[in-house]
Amino acid sequence: MMDRGIWINGEVKSWQDAHIHPFNFSLMYGYGVFEGIRVYQTSKGRMVFRLEDHLVRLLKSCKILNIKNYYTLDDLTYACHQLMDEIKGDDIYLRPMIICNSDGFLGIKAPKITIELIIAAIPWNYSPSDEDRLKGLSVKCSDTIKPLPNAALLGAKSIGNYLSVVTALTREKEIDDLIFFDQWGYVAEASGANVFVVKNNQLLTPYTNACLKGITRDTVFSLCSEFNLVTKEQNLTKDDLYTADEIFLSGTAIEIMPITNVDNTKINCVTTESISQGIYERYRELVRGNNRKYKDWLKAI
Ligand code: PMP
Repeated sequence: MMDRGIWINGEVKSWQDAHIHPFNFSLMYGYGVFEGIRVYQTSKGRMVFRLEDHLVRLLKSCKILNIKNYYTLDDLTYACHQLMDEIKGDDIYLRPMIICNSDGFLGIKAPKITIELIIAAIPWNYSPSDEDRLKGLSVKCSDTIKPLPNAALLGAKSIGNYLSVVTALTREKEIDDLIFFDQWGYVAEASGANVFVVKNNQLLTPYTNACLKGITRDTVFSLCSEFNLVTKEQNLTKDDLYTADEIFLSGTAIEIMPITNVDNTKINCVTTESISQGIYERYRELVRGNNRKYKDWLKAI
């Protein structure tokens, strides 16, 4: 058993022994897709959260990018299980990637592209203390604009789509994250999470024209039905952020995380009574297997 490992082309290898060729087509041109999936320890053992939804999105990302993938949903599911059989530990992050090779051809119009499936499993102990969670994140509105949907194919979780976001983040030292806007000045998303705004007892989130259709975002929609909150997709501007009652991010890695400061404008303090805290608590309960209503989203692994 290992505490981290990599499934690569049918075999589970140690972290050090997994290799790809340096002239990998995805490395040269960003042409590849990936997913981020969480495995949680529960009272019934280790469970993977919404595995099928993540793998379906991976397949959809291939389709959007016209990557000729031959792995089926069953193959991908089997590979994740095969990898997890070799990994010890409680909470694990799974990162499947479908990357491409052009067999030594360095040009862009490669005559032949082959694919490789790689899945990494690493221990995931990120869990902000209650104190840090209540402190929330400080963010800035980025002046890096999200590309038009048809320019960047933002519905795919592709490697290339992270270039401008990573570049923008490298220039920021003081803040926790950036909020990106679309071409029309509406909120798109954070670097790796969707954005929610609480205002006048409504829960608002941008349409998915310029952001990823997050699986956690979808989970929040389900949880909100229990909070008696009107939840809707809506165009949101900077003003909506500055005057929000609460703002939070949703994403597989960060789960539900409040934002308490935008461009040095203080957003209401998060308290144990806040809506974002309530949604976070429900989310934790769900992923740890303590809400039977959503038991189909968790599968033993
Ligand atoms: N937007 C971006 C750019 C992301 O990378 C992620 C993380 N996958 C999300 C949103 C949230 O998606 P999910 O809830 O499916 O993790």
